[in-house]
Amino acid sequence: MSGEDVCFVRGFHLKGSAWKSVFFLSLGFIIGVVYVALLINLAQFSSNQTLYQATRESPNLTCTFDYYERLLDEMGKERYAVLRVVDFIRLYRSDSLPLDKVIVILRHDVDLSPSLAYKMADLEVKHGIRSTYHIRTRGPYNILERRFHNWLKNLSDSGFEIGLHYETLYYSNYNFTEAERLLELDLNLLRSIVPVYTVCSHGNAPKQKHINYEVFVRNPSLYSRLRIEGEAYLTIFEILRELKTSGIIRDYVYLSDTYRRDIDWIGCLRNASIGEIIYILIHPDNWRSSLNPLRGGSSETCGLEVLQEERMVFVRDRRIFSELLKRAVAEVMDLKFKRVRGPTEL
Ligand SMILES: [Zn+2]
Repeated sequence: MSGEDVCFVRGFHLKGSAWKSVFFLSLGFIIGVVYVALLINLAQFSSNQTLYQATRESPNLTCTFDYYERLLDEMGKERYAVLRVVDFIRLYRSDSLPLDKVIVILRHDVDLSPSLAYKMADLEVKHGIRSTYHIRTRGPYNILERRFHNWLKNLSDSGFEIGLHYETLYYSNYNFTEAERLLELDLNLLRSIVPVYTVCSHGNAPKQKHINYEVFVRNPSLYSRLRIEGEAYLTIFEILRELKTSGIIRDYVYLSDTYRRDIDWIGCLRNASIGEIIYILIHPDNWRSSLNPLRGGSSETCGLEVLQEERMVFVRDRRIFSELLKRAVAEVMDLKFKRVRGPTEL
């Protein structure tokens, strides 16, 4: 206990031991509540880890920006045509898809934080690649914040597509009429900053009552009414299925890092033949500047790195709170002891 703590406790002692008991009992209660909350977090952390392990497919992926640069190097080769979501839709509708190349549709959903998206877009500029960034208006970041607002404008001016990552069915508690109203509201907000041509459904929870894109399934007239050229799931997969069924393309592959799956992205690109389409979804939130090796000699995945970071923070916090709890209990016991034996026992 520090000198300050002693003075503090002595100050209370002067006002009477009853106040002291109430104070430490309250402190003990608060610390107990925080401790239980941390235990609940640990349970969630464990289930996330199970989910992550269940979706691992290969140990070869490194979700680092170094790896991403190598992926961009690969995409920059002659044999690929890298398209934004809106490009793909427009080229298909004008019957002008570059079928003499491996077509790559490159899309990013900015779910949690724009900071890693900044970095990802910078790398794409450096490699001459343009992609689509789908941005939330109801996520944990504010698109009207000056820095983010300016970034969106710069991206759009530099040739990137900015789309809306919408979640209005979820936010309207699955009321379809209200969801349409909110969708228009959100589109207008994003369009007050940049032009918006496509939208993309966000998954708010693993098992939603309705997926956000069902608002378009229920009312397809929304596309024309809201001047939307396509939906990143409904429209793109409809086109891909149509192209394959009609024999215009050999095949298509959808690669997504959802749940931080391990994917051999570069290998998948190299294995693709001319006449195939690869639709890529990369969440910038899942990628990092560097990763700590957790297994001897082998490269590590972003998922494991993030989980490891979370575990370290949890272990540190648990140690601190455990220590505080022990002290609080000791203080309360000490007060009881003093009440029985008297202060001379100190
Ligand atoms: Zn999302």
